[in-house]
Amino acid sequence: MDLQLDALNEALKAVKTLRSSVGNFFVTLSQGVRSDHGEDNKETKFILELQDLISEVNSHMRRVDQTCSCLAPAPEGLYNLGNTALLAQETTQDRQALYSELVESYKWTDKLHDCSNLTVSYLQQNVMKRTYVNAAGNAKRRRYTPSSHNVPPQTVDNVIASVDRLFSDMTLTVTRPYATNAILQITLGRSLKAVVAFKGLMIEWVLVKGYNEDFVSENGHLDLWTESRYQVFRKITDNANAAMLHFYSPIHPDLAVRSFMTWFHSLMTLFTDSCRRCGNHLLLGMPPTWRDFRTLEAFHEDCKP
Ligand SMILES: [Zn+2]
Repeated sequence: MDLQLDALNEALKAVKTLRSSVGNFFVTLSQGVRSDHGEDNKETKFILELQDLISEVNSHMRRVDQTCSCLAPAPEGLYNLGNTALLAQETTQDRQALYSELVESYKWTDKLHDCSNLTVSYLQQNVMKRTYVNAAGNAKRRRYTPSSHNVPPQTVDNVIASVDRLFSDMTLTVTRPYATNAILQITLGRSLKAVVAFKGLMIEWVLVKGYNEDFVSENGHLDLWTESRYQVFRKITDNANAAMLHFYSPIHPDLAVRSFMTWFHSLMTLFTDSCRRCGNHLLLGMPPTWRDFRTLEAFHEDCKP
């Protein structure tokens, strides 16, 4: 950096010397033949003097050329902002800083662009599928845009209505307290209640409580967060969220909802089922809280396969 500044200083000095020698030449030329040229051959003496001055200008010119060639070229092309460079010559004080700010913001945008490119390549290595990991090899990997979070409310209503028709003993109520996203309240026979929060057609959150509990907070709003006071329903909540993640499918979001609801419906007989493995109703004071995702068979937490 210092070297660069020294070279620049040298170049500027050379330009100054060149200017003054050019100035000298013209001053001498404008004065014409002077008395100190004497009487004999005064024109020749005058011309010789001008020739000396011109050769001086020439040598100074060479010096300027030399010093300029030592200067490193400005980083051209990198931040060539076209005509906006003229902003740097703005005479109004408060606009003078505009150009440097512009360059800064361009640099910032470039950096942002680089970072986002990196991010994209990282994210592409890890497609955010929640389930259906294709362990059998990815020969037929499909590219898709996960858009299940952005569907019209009518589509969500239709899917929920089709589920409602499947199970007559399950009461479904759809509300939309938070803009367009649906909250589904489920009453499963006389066994339990649940709220399911959707984002588009994607299930985001499941909370299960006892039949005698409610989902109303102190100020009368829908309460999606307070856990059940019963251990069994807290366990069911955990399992339901695991099921929700298991059934999640960005390609067939409606199927995911239907599969989840079918699984969830199997909890109807939570307190009457016996465990598929040990055959008992209770183990450590808990009913069989686990349902197999595929066969819907009941298992105790400690008996599950
Ligand atoms: Zn068991």
